[in-house]
Amino acid sequence: MRDLPCRITLPCLIVLTVAAWLLCPLQAAPLQAQSLLHRLFTPEQLAFSPAERQGRPRPVRMPPPERTVPLRLHPPLPSALRGSIRRVRVDDDSKPIALTFDLCQTAGRVTGYDGEVVDLLRQHNASATFFASGAWLADHPERALQLMADPLFEVGNHGWTHRDPRTLAGEAAVDELLYTQAQYELLVEELARRAEAAGMTTQDAMAPVAPSIRLVRFPFGYCNAAALALAADLGLPAIQWDLVTGDPDPHANPGRMAAEVLRRARPGSIIIAHANGNNHGTAAMLRRVLPELARQGFRFVTVSELLILGTPEAAKGCYGEIPGDYDKGGR
Ligand SMILES: [Zn+2]
Repeated sequence: MRDLPCRITLPCLIVLTVAAWLLCPLQAAPLQAQSLLHRLFTPEQLAFSPAERQGRPRPVRMPPPERTVPLRLHPPLPSALRGSIRRVRVDDDSKPIALTFDLCQTAGRVTGYDGEVVDLLRQHNASATFFASGAWLADHPERALQLMADPLFEVGNHGWTHRDPRTLAGEAAVDELLYTQAQYELLVEELARRAEAAGMTTQDAMAPVAPSIRLVRFPFGYCNAAALALAADLGLPAIQWDLVTGDPDPHANPGRMAAEVLRRARPGSIIIAHANGNNHGTAAMLRRVLPELARQGFRFVTVSELLILGTPEAAKGCYGEIPGDYDKGGR
């Protein structure tokens, strides 16, 4: 009993179950990863470029990735991780909080990259999770590799081409998730090739890089029972949020967004924002929020880290699916 992190209660068992499920990708060695990131990319390559915020039409609609079925498939989720997870109940004083940024991209248009957001997170040593469309990963390989090689960050699955999961069935629904898993694997292999070419011991250099995506966020925040069941069967917890910034709104005001985030943030919160260039005022909002939340004792963690720090609170459906279960930022 003395070796267990908590007494054997139901919340404790849930924490232990989730921890066992997630243990593999969390065997991170931050110093090694730091070295991987900075061995492979110069400060100039990592830095924000304003021109990258701009999207552009895609002349050819997004084809499937070079690999369509991932080599790594996860076991189905334990019951504690099923449903749409909005936050994590944390019973101690550690005040973890998860910032998330969606990198949405459809088949017909290449979106951008708001590197100012990423630079700010790095400056504040703030961990975050980026939910990327597979098409975004494929069209922004350098930025994707940088996010993957950075020990601060985690990359999640945001569908291949950001299709509404309620409109998909059968193979189309599966492909939308698995194409992104496969594209991520191709990028992991590219990172390993570059590490080797840089003279690094590949096994050590790659140890902190998650070999496979472990989370999904449904595009638009939409889902139905079939989409949730599919994600659970593929071993991908479906992550929603309990706090929206509202940054897709062209009239978003950074001061008001920051005030709302600071008013509503609580330990275990999952905050949704965007970083694909279709977002507005996100960096200015973060300049206020990051130091203030840190001053209040919050510590920024990835969603996978958050899931093992408490009890995930999941709804049976996504926002808008159940009458009265509505979130303005998800629509
Ligand atoms: Zn999206």
